[in-house]
Amino acid sequence: MITYATDRSDINNGATSCAERTTACLQRIDERASLNAFLHVDADGATAAAAESDERFAAGLARPLEGLVVAVKDNINVAGMPLTCASRMLDGFRPLFDATVVERLRDAGAVIIGKTNMDEFAMGSSNETSAFGAVRNPVDESRVPGGSSGGSAVAVADGMCHVALGSDTGGSIRQPAAFCGTYGLKPTYGRVSRYGLVAFASSLDQIGIFASSLHDTAAVFDVITGHDPMDATSDPGAAGRALDVIASPHASPLRIGVLPRTAIQGCEPAIITAYDEAIERFRTKGAAIIEVALGHEEIWVPTYFILATAEASSNLARFDGVRYGLRAEHTDISDMTTASKTAGFGAEVKRRIMLGTYVLSSGYYDAYYRKAQQARRLISDAYNAVFADVDALFMPTTPTTAFSLGERNADPVTMWLSDYFTVSANIAGIPALSVPFGKDASGLPIGLQLQGALFHDERLMQIASLLES
Ligand code: GLN
Repeated sequence: MITYATDRSDINNGATSCAERTTACLQRIDERASLNAFLHVDADGATAAAAESDERFAAGLARPLEGLVVAVKDNINVAGMPLTCASRMLDGFRPLFDATVVERLRDAGAVIIGKTNMDEFAMGSSNETSAFGAVRNPVDESRVPGGSSGGSAVAVADGMCHVALGSDTGGSIRQPAAFCGTYGLKPTYGRVSRYGLVAFASSLDQIGIFASSLHDTAAVFDVITGHDPMDATSDPGAAGRALDVIASPHASPLRIGVLPRTAIQGCEPAIITAYDEAIERFRTKGAAIIEVALGHEEIWVPTYFILATAEASSNLARFDGVRYGLRAEHTDISDMTTASKTAGFGAEVKRRIMLGTYVLSSGYYDAYYRKAQQARRLISDAYNAVFADVDALFMPTTPTTAFSLGERNADPVTMWLSDYFTVSANIAGIPALSVPFGKDASGLPIGLQLQGALFHDERLMQIASLLES
């Protein structure tokens, strides 16, 4: 992995240049094509942006992220590059404008290197639902990188860029970050603009960051946060100040909430060992460890899959063969919609749309959708109560390390259960950060997760610095 903070000081003292770094990233993408991390690489655009960054360094005009090499998940608009959401449905589609996050990164001097592979429309936990083939885990190519932002996780873990953007609706940043050994931050809902992100489940979706260090995570966070009038759910607050917070001393005594043993008993032993070691690390740094009973764990996954599929069925209605991308052979207009959806969407997307329309249908609305909304309130209230007593909640990011390609495809419910520890943060809208912490016996990375109260994103990064080796 490469870090921007180190590169920036090397650029400043003349040891390297933005052009050199960008070229090295492009080479790495080529050499590691078998990982299938990218769907589009903009070598010319990146090279030109890097040259401009070098001029700015030379003129003493370097901006906060000058020369930072960024990869962008392929459900986020980058003007001039294709956008597919890893679906046939968007064949030939090119967005006309940059997402707000991309615009802010460019204005801060970043070099956008390309678009990363993902699960189709961000639905999945293994990157196997991509219409353009699975992404492979760099540590062991017979294993998945996690999903849905698998390409972004691999791009950072394998040194193809400094940082990558992903989207996290139920864990799609944190779970692949854990499987690939990077940091993965899902910010508080509303802190990062969703303008220019293709919606999956709008009340859960949040753009976030993959990086090799906390410093790089914080630097990008400070640039992409802050109010955006183009997103009605954007928080009116100012941009983040994570770089300041991670450099400042901790409030004492720090209180870390941990889950009771029963809540983690389904995890692989290597993950439990890492979790216990990390808890010890917190303790030696003076933190008080407090066991908390959050409750409602058994309804996290069902609540998520009802809400997410309901919203997805509504959001994906716009892909009808008229407005975007693919239009299949057809006889008349209603046949056009059916034929285009049939040809354009893969099996997982169809499954979600059908489930979503079912839970919203008039006979079942009260039994499923309304109940899930009530469950959402219970889950949020439980979090709010816990955050009165602790500064952060600490738990594994995933019950297992990266599993094998194909292993969980036969049974969608097994796949959905890999999101056990991640979906509740989206349900409650709270920030959550996956921190790389050691490896299992086969060398596969382990990720541990910190969750915090609404708007405590910076604090989470500060607490995570205690685990940084
Ligand atoms: N894996 C979860 C799902 O399949 C989460 C996806 C996401 O966060 N985009 O829905």
